[in-house]
Amino acid sequence: MVGINNMKLINGKEISAAVKERAAAEVAKLKEQGIEVCLAVILVGDDPASQVYVGNKKKACEACGMRSLEYRLPADTKQEDLLKLIANLNADKTVNGILCQLPLPKHIDEDTITSAILPEKDVDGFHPVNAGLLLSGKEGFLPCTPAGIMEMLKYENIDCKGKNCVVIGRSNIVGKPAALLMLAADATVTVCHSRTVNLKEAVKAADIIIAAVGRPNFVTADMVKDGAVVIDVGINRLENGKLCGDVDFEAVSTKASAITPVPGGVGPMTIAMLMQNTVIAAKKQNGI
Ligand code: NAP
Repeated sequence: MVGINNMKLINGKEISAAVKERAAAEVAKLKEQGIEVCLAVILVGDDPASQVYVGNKKKACEACGMRSLEYRLPADTKQEDLLKLIANLNADKTVNGILCQLPLPKHIDEDTITSAILPEKDVDGFHPVNAGLLLSGKEGFLPCTPAGIMEMLKYENIDCKGKNCVVIGRSNIVGKPAALLMLAADATVTVCHSRTVNLKEAVKAADIIIAAVGRPNFVTADMVKDGAVVIDVGINRLENGKLCGDVDFEAVSTKASAITPVPGGVGPMTIAMLMQNTVIAAKKQNGI
């Protein structure tokens, strides 16, 4: 989609719909072979945002024709009980993908839970084995949000080869894997974080900016080179209840050659890539 000043508005709704359509076609094909693709989602506690995410994942499964199992456990669930549930799902051959919605209540260790899910069923791509495969450039499950970013760039024919890419943020679920994927796509990658000195200058040199900070309007127009591609991962809720990203969209879109909006940008891609990962899991588990 082309917007103001020939700037391309990267439409996450359109791209995610294409990914989900592709996943639905694969699900239907597998069904013809007697394979019912199934995703199990575990939610511990009653965090309102997590409830919305889990509900959306269930809807996406339905839209793609997948079976979904939902486990909503109370906030005081013991870690050992959660581990038992994961062990049962690991052993259940009818379950292809398992995800445990983060964050978990404080008394449960997220690393222990993430590591308990079989790497072959880890459709969130958070297991250390999958993180290691990504680091070494081998095939594994990719975390859904960074995978969604790469899918958007591919869809828009944005070539990363030789480009300067600056990723702002170094979390294990977004910043670090996004940096590794950009490196694998032959970009020259700089990762900025809260201790970066001269962040503005680093960002200004970028052909592609990936902002995953969690601060509204963090990336301002004076930090952006003319013609840069700007991917805004941030999801921030303002006092007036509105959602906004990490990028000052209005000002930055006058300089960018392509930009993702919030909402309707990277957000919808995450669930679409989860659907894709679950299909991949089902195919691999059935030797396809
Ligand atoms: P996170 O774990 O809080 O990481 C934020 C990163 O930003 C950290 O690496 C932090 O640096 C860096 N940072 C914070 N303040 C900074 C500053 N003033 N200058 C430079 N760097 C700074 O967050 P996350 O999980 O990666 O998520 C980032 C954003 O993306 C959030 O808004 C989140 O809601 C959103 N998100 C969206 C999706 C989606 O589906 N679209 C999925 C996941 C997350 P340090 O490491 O030095 O602390």
